[in-house]
Amino acid sequence: MEKKFFYAPTAGRLSDNSMPTHWEHTVPAYKNAPHVWNVGGQDNVAVFLLDTGEGLILIDTGLNAETCYLVIERIWESGHDPRDIKKIFLTHWHGDHSCNARVLHEISGAEIWLSKEDEVEHKKHEGKVGYPKMIDGRRTMTWVEADSEEAKLSGKRADYPYVVTNFYDDDKPITMGRFTIKTKLCPGHTPGVTSFFFEDTDEETGKTYKVALHGGLGVNPMMRPEQLAYDGYPESMAHQFIKDCYELAKMPVDIALSSHLNQANILPNIPKDVNDYTVFVADYAWRDVLINRADAVKEFYPDVYPEAKKD
Ligand SMILES: [Zn+2]
Ligand SMILES: [Zn+2]
Repeated sequence: MEKKFFYAPTAGRLSDNSMPTHWEHTVPAYKNAPHVWNVGGQDNVAVFLLDTGEGLILIDTGLNAETCYLVIERIWESGHDPRDIKKIFLTHWHGDHSCNARVLHEISGAEIWLSKEDEVEHKKHEGKVGYPKMIDGRRTMTWVEADSEEAKLSGKRADYPYVVTNFYDDDKPITMGRFTIKTKLCPGHTPGVTSFFFEDTDEETGKTYKVALHGGLGVNPMMRPEQLAYDGYPESMAHQFIKDCYELAKMPVDIALSSHLNQANILPNIPKDVNDYTVFVADYAWRDVLINRADAVKEFYPDVYPEAKKD
């Protein structure tokens, strides 16, 4: 069988640098599971809308403030009302997932959920802007005060501040309407990355699908030893990520949601019929992508994982 979904990093996705031409990067709202839509509106970061039947859950909030209108537009386009969002689940504190939490909260009054671990990071980085910078010849993610000269030169500005109202408890699944959502802390990309697991049933066919979303699969440069040192995180975080990926990969998952579209070759597979979520049913995708990412991190630590092949 041909595998349509795999870890496939692609150049040219929407970034702050391509904002002047962002019409080239828009994607429609499309169904990713029976009651799950991607309403991110662009080809970089996904925003998942879960229609629980008793209000909406949003997982992440969009790439940046400039694309917020796309998220709102796509929510309408998917047949939903942004004012019905009851809960906003953040996969992690990074701005490309959390930047529009404030706006969407103001529109809907929704709760904003994050892990306790990433709330520490959120607070630590509030009022700062992050961008990649060459340090010792390596691309390093750096954070500087938003009102500093350096930040001004980078053309970046701080995200609108938001207040976290709820914290995940992995021992307490969250039930709302048709969904019961289990969370799992998956440190690595950040200390508080959260992954989500739930079942979704298609009433028309009677089929139930196991759906999963890993909250943080970006490993380069985040899990390189020098980046972890720069961020003040222990190297054990990278090893924990690898261990968790191998463990989670054993779980049966029918539909793997991808928080960055480029991480699973999603773009070429978005169907013309945006309601046809069945194209995303692929029982190998979850495992393949997790193992690929774990092995990519192993290559950063050849002394610990001599079996890992070099780039
Ligand atoms: Zn991130
Ligand atoms: Zn991201």
